[in-house]
Amino acid sequence: MKNSLIILLAMVALLQSCTSEGNETAAGSTSTPYALVIHGGAGAITRAAMTPEMEQEYLKVLNEALDIGETILKEGGASLDAVEKTIMYLEDSPLFNAGKGAVFTHEGKNELDASVMDGASLKAGAAGGLTIVRNPIRAARAVMEKSPHVLLVGKGAEQFAIEQKIDTVSPEYFFTQERWDALERAKAAENAQEGALPTNPDYKFGTVGCVALDQKGNIAAGTSTGGMTNKRWNRLGDAPIIGAGTYANNATCGVSCTGHGEFFIRYAVAHDVSAMMEYKGSSVQEAGEFIVNQKLKNAGGEGGLIALDKKGNIAMPFNSEGMYRGYAKAGERVVKIYKE
Ligand code: ASP
Repeated sequence: MKNSLIILLAMVALLQSCTSEGNETAAGSTSTPYALVIHGGAGAITRAAMTPEMEQEYLKVLNEALDIGETILKEGGASLDAVEKTIMYLEDSPLFNAGKGAVFTHEGKNELDASVMDGASLKAGAAGGLTIVRNPIRAARAVMEKSPHVLLVGKGAEQFAIEQKIDTVSPEYFFTQERWDALERAKAAENAQEGALPTNPDYKFGTVGCVALDQKGNIAAGTSTGGMTNKRWNRLGDAPIIGAGTYANNATCGVSCTGHGEFFIRYAVAHDVSAMMEYKGSSVQEAGEFIVNQKLKNAGGEGGLIALDKKGNIAMPFNSEGMYRGYAKAGERVVKIYKE
């Protein structure tokens, strides 16, 4: 009687550990439920300024991007592959300020930045100021995996990408009329206000990012951007800076940011989310919420972030009017633009 009670209690305990930490696979090893979260930038995105057709188009592309990453994760693929392929899809869409559709610099060029981090090894790679690499996230991953460095910029980064046989395009590939018009508006605003720093006249950032948790429990995060309209002097934002725009650590979380990059660099935002979880025991939602809606907001830093923890809990805080965002878990799909 006593023995069977002990066996029963042991079975209950085993069952509980399986449901809280993961699922028992046929092979006997546990697997983590996958999760994927994406953003397509934050800013003054309002219903009033959006046509129903545009809204549908954004939701469609965000859903398609989630499909790409979710398929990889569902089939047991690696979080790094999910992040890279999902971001490549968003980079190829002219809707977002990354890859095709990137914003213009003061000189009328497109200079692209991206980074990626592997939460299992804490390895990272980034590339900045790219003008001919079709998918900057691929260059970032190659820096991580094929070079002894973390961050390459400009001509050297492009030479490295070419050596790695990463697709290049002519700079005109990145042209979109909408971004060109935004540059003209920014320059007009700058002339009206002498000495103004490069800003985003549309207050819409549009960077893309993805964080994934695969069934092995590995977290990866990546971010890709054209930066900010009217930027100059080879300005780099937070997107290619590990710890600012991107961070991943299997022990805590993965993070990708979007917003006014200078603030995200100074407040080391992506790493700060992880640090709050590691040192203070905060949940991913508490950490993300505090940093975006208190620290950054009080400092005047507009933007948001996406994050997930090792159990697949998701946070998508932002302090702007809207943020293109969404996530996918087994049997669960959310895609949103506005606050509600
Ligand atoms: N964070 C980016 C930057 O400052 C801009 C964005 O999120 O769209 O370069």
